[in-house]
Amino acid sequence: MTMFQIILMSCMLLALATTGCRAENLSPEDWRERRTAMVEQLRAYGIKDKQVLNAMNSVWRHLFIPESHQRAATAYGDHPCPIGQGQTISQPFIVAYMTEKMQIKKNEKVLEIGTGSGYQAAILAELGAKVYSIEIVPELADHARNILKAEGYGVNVLTGDGYKGWPAEAPFDVVIVTCAPKKVPQTLVDQLAEGGRMILPAGRLEQRLLILRKKDGEVHTERDLPVRFVPMVHGNK
Ligand code: SAH
Repeated sequence: MTMFQIILMSCMLLALATTGCRAENLSPEDWRERRTAMVEQLRAYGIKDKQVLNAMNSVWRHLFIPESHQRAATAYGDHPCPIGQGQTISQPFIVAYMTEKMQIKKNEKVLEIGTGSGYQAAILAELGAKVYSIEIVPELADHARNILKAEGYGVNVLTGDGYKGWPAEAPFDVVIVTCAPKKVPQTLVDQLAEGGRMILPAGRLEQRLLILRKKDGEVHTERDLPVRFVPMVHGNK
C-alpha cells in the first residue's frame, strides 16, 4: 500500500467514524430499532415484567443523554453512558432490574435520589408513578427538568442533597437511590411509608444492591447483586 492509499483510507475511516456515529444522523425509525434491540436484550437477561419492558420501549433514552455526549452506537448499548459533570446514566439492565424489583403500582409515590439525566425518572413516570427526584448537581437537575418536561413527564425535580430526602412530600411508597452511599441513609428509611420498599447500592469500593421493606414498623433488609454506581456525595451543610 502506498503512502497516498494509507492517507486516503485513514480519511475515509475518519469520515465514517464521524458521520456514522453522530446521533443526529439517525431517523426516529433507526432509534426505534435500537430500542427494540435493547428491550430484546433485557428480556434475554431475564427481565420479565411486561410493564417495565413496555416503559423501556417507550422512553426515548437517547434524548436524555445530553447532545454533546450522544453517540448512536452507545445510547442503547448495555453499558453506562457519560452525561457530563463526571456522571453517567446507568446501563439499561440496571434501570430495568431495579424498577422491576420495586413492583411499582400506578399512582404510588416514588422518590428517586440522583436524577442524573432524568432517564430513570421517566421510566418511573411511564409506569404511572408520582415521581419526585433529587439531584445535587444543578446543571444536571436543569437538563433533566427540561427534557422531562419536553417529553411530557410530570416529574418533580429538586436541586438538593438527597441525604435529606424530601420531608415535605414524605412518606414514599418506594425510594430508588441511583448513587452509592457508604451505608443506608436513615433519613430515607424514615421517609418510607408503611409497606414501602427501597432499593439502593451501598458501599464504597465494593457495592451491593440492598432491598429494604418496611412492615409493621420494622425494616427487613435483603442483599442483592454486586454493582458499581457513582458515589452519593455529601452537600454543603
Ligand atoms: N438515575 C440517573 C443516573 C444517576 S447517576 C439516570 O437515570 O440518568 C447518579 C447521580 O446521583 C449523579 O447525577 C449525581 O450527581 C447524583 N448524586 C450524587 N450524590 C447525590 C446526593 N447526595 N443527592 C442527590 N444526588 C446525588
